[in-house]
Amino acid sequence: MTSAKELKLRRQQEALRIRTSLNRQRSVQHSSIKGGENTVAFVKEQQCIGCDQCDIVCDDDAIQLYKVAMRSPLMNVESNRKAKIIRDACTGCRLCVLACPTDAISMIDR
Ligand code: SF4
Ligand code: SF4
Repeated sequence: MTSAKELKLRRQQEALRIRTSLNRQRSVQHSSIKGGENTVAFVKEQQCIGCDQCDIVCDDDAIQLYKVAMRSPLMNVESNRKAKIIRDACTGCRLCVLACPTDAISMIDR
């Protein structure tokens, strides 16, 4: 029978395997996105759910969230949030593209 210690070790090894695999995928994805000083991030407003992930990863204070009116009459919430890019502050690092769970951000030419 598997002991608690063995189970814990197995869980740690599995967590490491998953983390390594995800990091590898992110690195491949990162290299496939164009970036650099001649590019700037762009948010497709319809896809943005205001989750704040892009703002958290951006080291350059290039993202702000602003409030918009809720469009759905089904939800009793006064406002929703959307992200916007401060173009002059954006360095084209692409981190926000990787962080966005809804693929709302893409890199465009400056
Ligand atoms: S590309 Fe980099 S600098 Fe520009 S908004 Fe995204 S995270 Fe910030
Ligand atoms: S991570 Fe994506 S969905 Fe979340 S606030 Fe930023 S642009 Fe919007």
